[in-house]
Amino acid sequence: MRRDSLPPAVCFRVSRHCNARCRFCLAPPDGITVSEETLKARLDWLFSAGVRSIHFCGGEPAIHPALPGLLRHVAASGAKSRVTTNGIEVSDDVAAALQESGTHVKVSLHGDRNHHNGLVGCDGFDRTVATLRMLQVAKVPVSVQTTLVAGGGWVLDWAIDFCLRQKIKRLSFLPFVARGRGVALRDQLALSSGERASFLHHVKQARRLLSNRLDVRWLDMRSSRLCVIDVDGRIVIERGSEVLDLQLGNVGIPARPR
Ligand code: SF4
Repeated sequence: MRRDSLPPAVCFRVSRHCNARCRFCLAPPDGITVSEETLKARLDWLFSAGVRSIHFCGGEPAIHPALPGLLRHVAASGAKSRVTTNGIEVSDDVAAALQESGTHVKVSLHGDRNHHNGLVGCDGFDRTVATLRMLQVAKVPVSVQTTLVAGGGWVLDWAIDFCLRQKIKRLSFLPFVARGRGVALRDQLALSSGERASFLHHVKQARRLLSNRLDVRWLDMRSSRLCVIDVDGRIVIERGSEVLDLQLGNVGIPARPR
């Protein structure tokens, strides 16, 4: 592939290993672990290709021991970083690196305690909320992202109220897409076309009404093209379904064991 065909911002999977087991997980475990050295070499390759913004995702990036070093490496290279986390386990070292590197953190929270824990497959709700508060106190820029599944229309107002109460400034709603673990659960979790239209209408209204207090967004993978560097080094344009993905090539740095 031509290096200059990459967008300026990419999602970078440090690992697919995770401490949750979300029913809709887009990237379930693949058993591959990669060393910090290899991950840094991949980042350098991306920077040489013109990439200027790295969005660390997973799996759960916060439990990868390399994350603090990777965040500092990105900052030292003059690029920007973002992290998406389930917030279940964010160590002091990770929090310090997030703070030092000016990283924006997206925390996944999918509804009230019962609903959230049922979707993520563990008792993560309280720890996730505690992480959000800890990051706010540490002045790390945070936002919330919420996956919407069938029958979950009430979650829209729940998440909006939560963010307003917690003084969070940005909330992104992600309608369920049948990728990864979600493929097998499509019948249970996929929004009907009526739900999708009504949820989107609700989000647009909230966005208009709350424009000064909360930036409400609708991020639908069905209409986006996300450039992802997967753990095995593949560069993939991910869309609403795996059969629509485009394989662009490989970062050229082979996966070496950790
Ligand atoms: S969606 Fe994220 S938090 Fe949930 S299992 Fe997958 S990687 Fe882990």
